[in-house]
Amino acid sequence: MTSFRNISRRDFLKFCAGTASLLGLSEAAVPRVARALEGAAKKPPVIWLEGQDCAGCTISFINSSNPGTAELVLDTISVRYHETIMAAAGHLSEKALQDTIKEGGYVLVVEGSIPTVDPRFCQIAGRNFVDIVKEAAGNAGAVIAIGSCATYGGIPGDCPPPGTGMGVGEAMDKGLIPKKPLINVPTCPAHPERFVGTVVYYLLYKQPPPMDKIGRPLMFYDKLIHDNCERRGHFENGEFLSDWNSFEQRNWCMYLKGCKGPFTYADCPKRRWSDGLNWCIGCSSVCQGCSEPTFYTGMAPLYDKTQEIRGYRVETIGAVATGIVAVGLAGHFIGQAMTGRLGKGGPPEEGGDN
Ligand code: SF4
Repeated sequence: MTSFRNISRRDFLKFCAGTASLLGLSEAAVPRVARALEGAAKKPPVIWLEGQDCAGCTISFINSSNPGTAELVLDTISVRYHETIMAAAGHLSEKALQDTIKEGGYVLVVEGSIPTVDPRFCQIAGRNFVDIVKEAAGNAGAVIAIGSCATYGGIPGDCPPPGTGMGVGEAMDKGLIPKKPLINVPTCPAHPERFVGTVVYYLLYKQPPPMDKIGRPLMFYDKLIHDNCERRGHFENGEFLSDWNSFEQRNWCMYLKGCKGPFTYADCPKRRWSDGLNWCIGCSSVCQGCSEPTFYTGMAPLYDKTQEIRGYRVETIGAVATGIVAVGLAGHFIGQAMTGRLGKGGPPEEGGDN
């Protein structure tokens, strides 16, 4: 049996119950989750590579608590190579990487984008990052791309020229690295629960979870932010924040200030961040659309309204917010007309459009 350091049985079972609900399973599945976590006679090996990243996804993961999610998962899987948290360095760490690659069957986690146009970018131990990922993906059982940069290129991906930072899926499509089952876990940074849920699903079912057309697990990315936003009532009423300094408008809808919630699929309103403490819109920052492939350039400028909700002239609604037009009637009409029909072609179905 795997031993979980510093974590009581009660906390462990609490974690299992939380993870079961994360996966959409009933309470009856808790013992099964517990068995999958503690019963793995041979802990699945993991190689975690960092390319063009800020290590934010790693920090997000190891800072999670209630109970120590990182500790539980790191005790459940066997992280053989991780540049930020491994104790070994130099030749020892490279040997650990090579030994694991030879063994095969591991899960490869890639954090950060992959530069492909200039060999001087992102060299590790004298080798180009793209060559390291190519070698490590070769014998991997599955690949998890974690964070916006590794999934779709993110901020480095938008630096000229094209190919300066490429997502794992695109690198696979272009034949730069071998094609393997790929799970994309975007946002900047990645949410620790979405990573843990993905890993536990893989341990339970020995296959990737059901995903949308762009490789995101549906259990975390099947709804628009806008659909579950706590400010949606203000949107429906035509109450749009136009003045950051207005006390009255402090909780109003931020669509006119550039919120990308109507175009972004993720469960942030429900899952929230920092152990459920708050989330972007909860602390009066617009949704920046960081779970979408078009992040960053396609969502910038972040505090400008750059996209229209299909079929609606929201400037008219903005006038409503400033009190020029009858708020209640217009808001009610608009809300009724818009319910459930926002975004880029509707909610993604498994293998469906996004
Ligand atoms: Fe919430 Fe943004 Fe939608 Fe407004 S536009 S309801 S702030 S997600």
